[in-house]
Amino acid sequence: MAEEKRYVEVLLPLKLKDALTYRLPAGWEVAAGTWVQVPLRGHPALGVVLEVRNSAPVGVNLSAIEPVEEVLTAPPASPCELSLWRAVADYYLCTPGEVFRAAYNAGLQKLMLNPPKPRTSRKKEAAKADHSDTVLSELSLDQQVALEHIREGFAQRKPVLLHGVTGSGKTEVYLHLAAEQLQHGRDVLYLVPEIAISQQLQQRLEAVFGDKLLVYHSRTTVPQRFKVIDTLRRDPAPRIVLGTRSAVFLPFRKLGLAVVDEEHDRSYKQDDTAPRYNGRDTALMLASLHKADVLLGSATPSCEALFNVRSGKFSLAELPNRFYGGSAPVIEIIDTAKALRLHNMEGSFSRKLLKEMAAVLDAGKQVLVFRSRRAYAPVVQCEACGEPVKCPHCNVPLSYHRFNSTLSCHYCGYHRPYSLRCPSCDELALVERGSGTEKIEEELQAAFPGRTVARFDADTTQSKTAEQKLIRDFAAGKIDILVGTQMVTKGFDFERLAMTAIVSADSLFAVQDFRSDERALQLLTQLMGRSGRRGEPGRLVIQTFQPDHPVLQRLVAEADEPANNLLDERKTFNYPPYVRMISITVKDSYEGRVWNVCRLIREAADAVGIRDIAGPTAPAVDVVGGEHIAQFWIKLPRNRQLAVTKKALYNRVEQIERDFKGHTSIVIDVDPA
Ligand code: ADP
Ligand code: ZN
Repeated sequence: MAEEKRYVEVLLPLKLKDALTYRLPAGWEVAAGTWVQVPLRGHPALGVVLEVRNSAPVGVNLSAIEPVEEVLTAPPASPCELSLWRAVADYYLCTPGEVFRAAYNAGLQKLMLNPPKPRTSRKKEAAKADHSDTVLSELSLDQQVALEHIREGFAQRKPVLLHGVTGSGKTEVYLHLAAEQLQHGRDVLYLVPEIAISQQLQQRLEAVFGDKLLVYHSRTTVPQRFKVIDTLRRDPAPRIVLGTRSAVFLPFRKLGLAVVDEEHDRSYKQDDTAPRYNGRDTALMLASLHKADVLLGSATPSCEALFNVRSGKFSLAELPNRFYGGSAPVIEIIDTAKALRLHNMEGSFSRKLLKEMAAVLDAGKQVLVFRSRRAYAPVVQCEACGEPVKCPHCNVPLSYHRFNSTLSCHYCGYHRPYSLRCPSCDELALVERGSGTEKIEEELQAAFPGRTVARFDADTTQSKTAEQKLIRDFAAGKIDILVGTQMVTKGFDFERLAMTAIVSADSLFAVQDFRSDERALQLLTQLMGRSGRRGEPGRLVIQTFQPDHPVLQRLVAEADEPANNLLDERKTFNYPPYVRMISITVKDSYEGRVWNVCRLIREAADAVGIRDIAGPTAPAVDVVGGEHIAQFWIKLPRNRQLAVTKKALYNRVEQIERDFKGHTSIVIDVDPA
């Protein structure tokens, strides 16, 4: 009897166009989804079987096909998982292998190939009590009404946007819905933005869900991640996963609900490596594969979510009032230019602001001070020759960090010791310009000698323990004034915080792209929500050179529906979500080649029928890490043709990149943030 030869198509966690063919040794049983170890350039690699076939693909050299080395014992990947990888690859213009790699990083791949021995003591886990129903709070009337609306939306099989001001009790509504799903034996995904994964939230979820809760975020170690994956695959008990964006790729058995809190948040978007996906939108794809419900929550919904509400694709529920009541925060705008004219500035602060802060502190309350730039001085400049000190690899000024006496580049990480000597003209004449968080902290210490001032930014929160200590100390009232960057805008809930001050709103208005107003407005609204959380109105004080800036006007005048108006503008100017945007970024250490490649991309875009393309243009920071950068911005109408045009563009651009292999990097980003 002739030996029957079988072959398998195996997907590898790499940027390969197709799956690779391997030979299956006689008698081995595999199916779509089976995890296997296969040889790849002489090394064992993790793969997942996509297809089993009885003949080799035509045109393949049979003797070159290598055998599968091992069938792994992990339960197979589900059809939903594999479909999600395909859907994400199609939408975000990358390969399924790249999505596979996002789901299983190098560390996880190793553990899949060599799983740790399972520990046998299962007693402890079984002994843990089931907490549900006991610790859920009773919902307020407002919350019950919102819940009803959410259920109505789900009944129509629509994702629901829960638009609720900060402190309105959205979290409690999520928990009720999650508990229901778990009781019905279905899994729940609870997504939060990268920086919002607060200890407070985790503890709240632990109290309600006990060991049904699994946590999965960027600070989860590889063995912990593996355990989460393994638990979901092997243990049939329903789970709730609290996680950041990559948790969308977890192997849920039967997802019942996906919650995306702070759905507008930019950190849902992965923009450094493929797949350049948005966690919120991927959660929508995941939920649709599982036929699960989706609840998006925000105090400042994205234009995308509002667009979907308008078009009837999403349903809307609202929580317009704070749970503990209290009036809306008081907003005060201080004109920095006027204060300067009247000699009313002391360093970065107007006298008026300092006085108001003093009053808050005297009343035993706390103040949060927001400054968007970390470092001591964002720029140092030579007084002799006028040159700012720039990064040798990027076209940006270096920032001065006093705490470790270095000049550092926030783009490429280059740093060097600080000295007063100008690298351009050699004079000892460097002076600091502007003030970042470190300088602000110092100024506040000087202005409020008896008070404790602390700083919360990327420099002071490098370790999780340092970060948690700052949060604990602020919560316990050991810190009077906390200075921070964007990191302080979410997941902070402090009872005694009575005022938030923005040193300079102008830095929020400096970036100019079609999303900058939306972003500034969201940030200001989030900051507004930080203070006065228990019945008392909070206070937001904004210093700015542009008191008439439209964003500020909106914040004050149209507190209810500012984002809806932004949406109208997007429509007028034909921006997303009314069109699909794709950016293409070209990078090369040789500038001439950048423009050469750009010309080819332009031709490719023409060839696939793209009409609305801007560029190539050099971005504001046009050299980073020694590479020259140019960009295109493409708008595509949202019609049936869209997917075809995207794919055609992708194929052509990939071909151009292959032709320049090793020199030029070309990055395609769908829905750039
Ligand atoms: P949001 O997520 O909308 O910002 P939270 O869920 O954090 O709001 O709620 C704000 C505050 O109100 C929290 O301190 C929370 O514990 C409290 N809270 C919300 N809902 C309830 C409830 N039903 N019973 C008791 N306390 C609640
Ligand atoms: Zn640099």
